[in-house]
Amino acid sequence: MHPLQLKLQREIRRCSVTDPDTGCWLWNRQVSNSGYGRMMISNGGHTLHESAHRISYLAYVGPLKRDDIVRQRCGNRLCVNPDHLILASERQEGAVA
Ligand SMILES: [Zn+2]
Repeated sequence: MHPLQLKLQREIRRCSVTDPDTGCWLWNRQVSNSGYGRMMISNGGHTLHESAHRISYLAYVGPLKRDDIVRQRCGNRLCVNPDHLILASERQEGAVA
């Protein structure tokens, strides 16, 4: 496991709370206009903003291509639980989990 992944995993857990009913990890930091969690990452003097659920996917599941779209199959945009994250390309059109 890459050390950065471990660091990001800790950060994801630190910035989210588990919903006992749904198992969702609800992001409780900054939220973007589109309703997704936003995460600030400092990397060698640069600071970048990225969607929290994308970071969670990277940290727990694996590498993402730039144009890959990650969605929550639970339908909660604030959810960063890697078990609830899927690549949109794998999702069937119109399916609601
Ligand atoms: Zn969820």
